[in-house]
Amino acid sequence: MASTADNNSFTQADEYDVVVVGAGFGGVYGIHRFRQDGLSVLGIEGGSGVGGVWFHNRYPGARVDIDSVVYCYHISNEIYRGWKWKERYAAQPELLEYINYVADTLDLKKHILFNTWMTAGEWQPAEKRYVIKTSTGRTIRAKFLVMATGQLSEARKPPFPGLDEFKGEWVQTSHWPDREVKLAGRRIGIIGTGSSGVQAVPRLAEQARHLTVFQRSPNYSVPAQNKPLDEATWEMVGADVPAEKARLLKHFGAQHRPRGTQPASAFTPEEQQAMIEKQWNAGGHAMSAIFSDQTTNAASNELVAEFVRNKIRQTVKDPVVAEKLCPKDHPIGTRRLCLDIGYHETYNRDNVTLVDVREAPIERITATGIQTRDGKHYELDLIVFAIGFDAFKGAVNSANIRNEHGRAPTDHWDRGPQTLLGLMTSGFPNLFMVAGAGSTSVLANMVMVDEHHVDWIADCIQHLKKNGLQSIEPEVGAERDWSQFVADAAGKILRLNVNNYMVHVNKDGSRVFMPYVGGFDKYVALADASAAKGYEGFKLQ
Ligand code: NAP
Repeated sequence: MASTADNNSFTQADEYDVVVVGAGFGGVYGIHRFRQDGLSVLGIEGGSGVGGVWFHNRYPGARVDIDSVVYCYHISNEIYRGWKWKERYAAQPELLEYINYVADTLDLKKHILFNTWMTAGEWQPAEKRYVIKTSTGRTIRAKFLVMATGQLSEARKPPFPGLDEFKGEWVQTSHWPDREVKLAGRRIGIIGTGSSGVQAVPRLAEQARHLTVFQRSPNYSVPAQNKPLDEATWEMVGADVPAEKARLLKHFGAQHRPRGTQPASAFTPEEQQAMIEKQWNAGGHAMSAIFSDQTTNAASNELVAEFVRNKIRQTVKDPVVAEKLCPKDHPIGTRRLCLDIGYHETYNRDNVTLVDVREAPIERITATGIQTRDGKHYELDLIVFAIGFDAFKGAVNSANIRNEHGRAPTDHWDRGPQTLLGLMTSGFPNLFMVAGAGSTSVLANMVMVDEHHVDWIADCIQHLKKNGLQSIEPEVGAERDWSQFVADAAGKILRLNVNNYMVHVNKDGSRVFMPYVGGFDKYVALADASAAKGYEGFKLQ
C-alpha cells in the first residue's frame, strides 16, 4: 500500500473554501475537483490513509460486487488507463492500491488531515461559515462543508452482553485491524451473514481450526463468477472515458448490467428457467432484475428465489443445513443480493458449523465463547462481528453538526430522511452530503454516484461564486416534495416491506425506503434539471 501523507510535512491554514470530510472515493474526487476549480480545500479523514470503506473493511474475502471496469473513477483517459484491474471484481487490497494510485497521481494527499475526526461543526450565520472542530484540537473555518462520509461507515456496535469478559480476541469486519489477525488453527465464530459475512466465511473456513457461523437470517447469495479482467471490455471502456462517463450517467445503475424488459408472464416456464440459469452462469446483480416485474410482483420474484434455493439444496450436502441456508422470509433482491465465491460450498467442510440463532438466540458472550439460549456453549478463540452499519444517518450524526438554532441535520428526520435530491437538508446552508439518503446512493455504482454528486456540488459552488451569492439550502416545501417523491417511487416495491438497513420504520409501523429507487439515470436528469434552472427548489442568498 502506498504511504500516507505526513500531516506534519505541511502547514494547513485555518480557513478554507471547502472542507471535505472522508477520504473514500467521494472525498478523494471532491478534493481533486474543488482544487481544480481554484478553491482552497481541506480533507479530514479518521483513518491513516485514503480509501474510506475500502480502508476499513479489510477483512479476508472483502471484494467489490460491481464490475471493476465501472467501479472506478472516470476522471480522464489517463487516470483510467494508468490502472489495469486484475479481476472482474477487485479484491480489497487492489481497491486500496487503486485509490492510492489516484490520490498519488493527482497529488491529493497533501490536502488531507489523516488520523483526524471531525468532532463538531457549527454554522455561523453572520460569517456564513462552518466552524469545525477536530479530534486533534484544531478549529477550521469553511464556507462549504461536504460530508463524503459514505453510507456504510458507522458500524453497529456489538450489542451482546458479556463481550467485556471475553478472554479471546474479537474484531469487526467493518473495522478490520490493519495488522495480521491470526486465523490459522483458531476456533473462530462469526456473527452476521450479510454481504460482509458471506464474503468472509469461505476465507475464514480455509484457515480456522473450526468456524462456527451464527446466522440470524439466511440471505440470497449467488456466485460472483469472478474471473480475470476482460481485457476487451477494459479496452473498450478506456478508449474514450468521457463518453463512457456519459453512458454510465444514463444507466439505471451506473454500470453495464442488463435489466429485464418483459415480465415473467411473457415467457413459458421453460424459457423462464433458461433465462434464470443463463443469468446464474453470468453472475452479478442482474439476478435481481431478470424480469421487469421481479421487484414488484411476488410470483415473478418467487421463480428466481426458488431457483436460487434449489441451487443451495444441490450444493449443500446436509439437507438440514441446506434448508437453514435457504431464505424463505423475504423475496430475492429485497435485501442486497450477496455475491460470493464458494459460500454455500463452505458448509460441506468438516470444520464448519452453522448455528441458527433465530431458533436459539445468542444469550451472552462468556469468557471463552458464545452461549445460546438452548443451553449450548461454543468455545471460541476469535469472534468476528459482521453485523452491519447505521446507514444513512450514522455518519452525518457522528460529526456533530449544528445550525445556529442548535439543531442537528437529522433532527427533522424522525419520519424518515428529509433531503432535497439527497444532497442537502433544510436548515443547514452550504452543508452537502455525497450520496445521501434520498439519492440513489448505494443502489447504484457508488463511484459514479460520488462523481456525479461532487460534480453537482462543485458546479453549484461555481454558480454561487459567479453570481455573488453566499449560501444555498433547500426550501422546506421542495424538500418535502422530494422526500414524498422518493417515498412514492418505492411505494410498490416488494423491498419496502422487508426489514433491512435501507428501510426506515416509523413508530406507527409505516415505512420509508431511504434511497431513491427510480434509477440513477432518472435521478441524474432531475438533479441536473434543478441545476439548469438556477438550482430550482433551493434558496440561494
Ligand atoms: P448487513 O447486510 O446489514 O448484514 C448484517 C448481518 O448481521 C445480518 O446477517 C444480520 O442479521 C446480522 N446481525 C445483525 N445484528 C445481529 C444480532 N444482534 N444477532 C445476530 N445477527 C445479527 O451488513 P453487511 O454484511 O456489512 O453489509 C452491509 C452492506 O455493505 C451491504 O448491503 C453492501 O451494500 C455493503 N457491502 C458490500 C460489499 C461488496 O461490495 N462486495 C461487501 C460487504 C458489504 P439479520 O439479517 O437477521 O438482521
